[in-house]
Amino acid sequence: MKIAFHGAARTVTGSKHLISLSNGKKILLDCGMFQGMGAETETLNRNFGFNPAEIFCVFLSHAHVDHSGLLPKLVKEGFKGKIYTTPATVDVTRILLQDSAHIQEQDMHFLNKKRREEGKSLLKPLYTQEDAFSTFEHFVPVHYHQPIKIDENISFEFFDGGHIVGSATVFLTLTEAGKTTTIAFSGDVGRYGDPILHSPEVFPQADYIIIESTYGNKLHGAMDSFPEELYRNIQETCMHKKGKLIIPAFSVGRTQELLYALNDLELDGRLPHIKYYVDSPMSTKVTEVVKKHPECFNRSLQKLLKRDNDPFGFRGLQYITDKRDSQALNINYSPMVIISASGMAEAGRVKHHIANSIENWRNTILMVGYCEPQSLGARLKQRPEVITIFGEPHHLKADVNEINSLSAHADYNDLSQYLSCQYPAEVKRVFVVHGEPNVQNEFKRRLLKKGFRDVEIPELHQEFGI
Ligand SMILES: [Zn+2]
Repeated sequence: MKIAFHGAARTVTGSKHLISLSNGKKILLDCGMFQGMGAETETLNRNFGFNPAEIFCVFLSHAHVDHSGLLPKLVKEGFKGKIYTTPATVDVTRILLQDSAHIQEQDMHFLNKKRREEGKSLLKPLYTQEDAFSTFEHFVPVHYHQPIKIDENISFEFFDGGHIVGSATVFLTLTEAGKTTTIAFSGDVGRYGDPILHSPEVFPQADYIIIESTYGNKLHGAMDSFPEELYRNIQETCMHKKGKLIIPAFSVGRTQELLYALNDLELDGRLPHIKYYVDSPMSTKVTEVVKKHPECFNRSLQKLLKRDNDPFGFRGLQYITDKRDSQALNINYSPMVIISASGMAEAGRVKHHIANSIENWRNTILMVGYCEPQSLGARLKQRPEVITIFGEPHHLKADVNEINSLSAHADYNDLSQYLSCQYPAEVKRVFVVHGEPNVQNEFKRRLLKKGFRDVEIPELHQEFGI
């Protein structure tokens, strides 16, 4: 059999790995979109490097768009098989793909308006909302720890990856001519001791491992300082300066972590009596879905559920979906906390909130996640005197603070712990994916030192016989 890497190869987006059995059956692991790679992004997303009609089935590790975002294009171009993933991933992916299609339709509409004026040919989005809807029919939800035999060649089982709600390590058992080969695909690996999710689970011994390496050379700080740091920011901004605390946050994961930390402060009787807004229709939808999947929660959260039936809800919290209610916050000058997407402040309603409050010293923009270097979030972190938002210059008078203790990705120690369930000498080869090349090289050196015999860092579209 063969394995080819059609994305997340020496980069962190576009996760797509294709296993071809000698009888011609093809299995796709993830079908992610490339993101933030400049002019190259479009070309990378237009060309799969394989024929979607030939794919027998897909295993989806988790809902993030860099792992799921091209599924509608796969279906549109002839994929007829099933997409196996966990029930929580089915629910979150539905929201994310619909949103991704919507954004593409909007962007194309805008672009084509310009192209029409310039007499240029019109462009089409990668897929439409209708394409996203037809993708949902292919989903087959399968719980963790439920071994499934698809046919005489392919069996699989999901183990909790602890990265986001529903994330899984995909463990495949493939049989060819009486010979069995096992392959473990990590998807993205979460952290041990996450406040909400299970820690990444152990999985059976594998012949081949495909592992992410986003932070394969880095150590994160301790996560438990987060509620205290958040409390300090609310005290300073809302209670002392009587201003607004604006927190850009990813809809999946970070928003729920913030709500959970605020709920924790309320249970401690320390949550300041002000208004807390979640101002993002997508964050609202995702939080509803997360609440429906307590099977993904860790033991302490399961315990908490017995005395607090809504660990993401507390006094003063309000979800905003209507755009007019969101705009009304601009002229509301009471102290408040606004949690809004996107996490890098590059798009979404949070960008308007930032533009509206950045020139007032009472307010604080609190960054709680990774930001790509060109994003508004990253520019804010530089604290320039003047910053351009929507083409308008703004004087930065508000405070910009950062809390860096949260990350959904495993650091080097977490990845080591994740692999500690394996006898390195029994693993025939480790494929290191989903990382920047310099990080991957360092992670490879560490894996070899740990006793893994053969470690490869595949290039885009590179194929290996296994
Ligand atoms: Zn992810």
